[in-house]
Amino acid sequence: MQTKYIFITGGVCSSLGKGLTAAAIGLLLEKKGLKIAMLKLDPYLNVDPGTMSPFQHGEVYVTDDGAETDLDLGHYYRYTNSFLSRASNATSGQIYNTVIKRERHGDYLGKTVQVIPHITDEIKQRIYQCGKQQENIDVVLVEIGGTVGDIESLPFLEAIRQFTYENRPHCLNIHLTYVPYLKAAGEVKTKPSQHSVQILREIGIFPDIIVCRCEFSLSEEVKDKISLFCNVNRRAVIEEVDVEHSIYEVPIKLHDEGIDALICELLHLPSPPVDLREWETIIETIRHPKGTITVGIVGKYVQHQDAYKSVFESLIHGALAAGYKLQIKRFEADKLPLDSQQLSKALEGCDGYLVPGGFGERGWLGKIHTAKLCREKNIPYFGICLGMQVLAVEFARHVLGLDDANSTEFDVDTKHPIISLLSEQRGVQDLGGTMRLGAYTCDLKPSTKAYQAYKRDQISERHRHRYEFNNAYKEAMEKAGFIIAGTLKGENLCEIAEIKGHPWMVGVQFHPEFKSKPTDPHPLFRDFIQAMITHQEKVHGNTQSAE
Ligand code: GLN
Repeated sequence: MQTKYIFITGGVCSSLGKGLTAAAIGLLLEKKGLKIAMLKLDPYLNVDPGTMSPFQHGEVYVTDDGAETDLDLGHYYRYTNSFLSRASNATSGQIYNTVIKRERHGDYLGKTVQVIPHITDEIKQRIYQCGKQQENIDVVLVEIGGTVGDIESLPFLEAIRQFTYENRPHCLNIHLTYVPYLKAAGEVKTKPSQHSVQILREIGIFPDIIVCRCEFSLSEEVKDKISLFCNVNRRAVIEEVDVEHSIYEVPIKLHDEGIDALICELLHLPSPPVDLREWETIIETIRHPKGTITVGIVGKYVQHQDAYKSVFESLIHGALAAGYKLQIKRFEADKLPLDSQQLSKALEGCDGYLVPGGFGERGWLGKIHTAKLCREKNIPYFGICLGMQVLAVEFARHVLGLDDANSTEFDVDTKHPIISLLSEQRGVQDLGGTMRLGAYTCDLKPSTKAYQAYKRDQISERHRHRYEFNNAYKEAMEKAGFIIAGTLKGENLCEIAEIKGHPWMVGVQFHPEFKSKPTDPHPLFRDFIQAMITHQEKVHGNTQSAE
């Protein structure tokens, strides 16, 4: 079958959930029996988001092949089964980089290198490449980052205009827009959407479907107006109302609006009925939880909505597996008191704590003392990446009595470098794309919490870090009750650490949050939540009920 292409642009403002909408559409098409690929095009000039602050960009999502990508790929992973790789995300930075390298190589000899056609050709090339990542891809969904009207995204829009022109019957343009409700006027306004579509039309893109993000359901009259003034069929005006319970309702809502059937009709694709029961069950569980479980996140970027996106979602998946509602309490690690009693008071009210990944020293001590509290009080603790390094250094400091144990990331001259750089990282000068990145195989030790969770001898998980546990301390640490529950295949690097005799204190050097789905919760998040439930029952008795 000829591959089809769906382009998704966004209008009016950012944060409309374009990635989520794209992922939900991807899921619906998969449920129609189609094989999809997904591509995110980002207009910024960074080669990848790897060197950006999480405050700027939110989480960096890592693929198996070690690409540091946009967090929307996390949505794609959670909703769909599409294959994600380096070819699933392209930035203006990468595109310009490729073209400029080619120019230096002499590939355009004699020519003036220009945005059109050279940059736009490279963009089109990336779209084709994404669809060739695997055999028999039926539909490629391309999400264009940014908002229509931005100067930065113009080359992308010109490229998809050309692409649509060149592949006319096989392309579909979906425009996601915002239809605000003005309280003071008591009215819904369609003008911003009209203007956004007008800009697209000036560029030569004519949306086939308009998806309207809105707070309340739109009246027939409003939809008629959008249809007439945006020049789309009335059936192609799809509303996407704010969801009540969970973002996992989005595919169900969009299906109820008929978007999947319409896409198939417009692209002449087979359109069997879709079965969304699995997703309906998820919403049912969210609506009627057995109880509430509260996790404390102790990190550096906790106030940023998206900095730990996949961690938050994975925790929700773990809670779903137990039929519980998840409540998240966020703690700024550098604001925590270090005195045990004061810390215990400051952190009060959680059934367990998670220390996520991070870079830089701010908050390091707050994290170490959180781990100490959890270890001493038998409270469930889950450390991810930096959170595992926290667990190891805390143990060295307070159990082995090596007061100045540290990571060389924070003290290069520490007498006890529990966490340090491997020799291959020592000479690294460039900071972009040079960490230990992507999937590595890890051997699990039997009779550990990790083994209990995965129930397998070998696992594959994704990494994004520079520093490692220092094996010079392995023996002393193990003797004192530090368990190395997982090691890098073929080498002796510590990938998972646990604390002997503790109900659930696990640290992982990798990022399990990149591989959890609502329909398939990650085993470590599932077991962490289960340990928190057991802890809650022990502390409060089995009296917690759903709110
Ligand atoms: N900063 C630590 C390292 O580079 C941890 C990184 C992370 O948590 N992703 O090793």
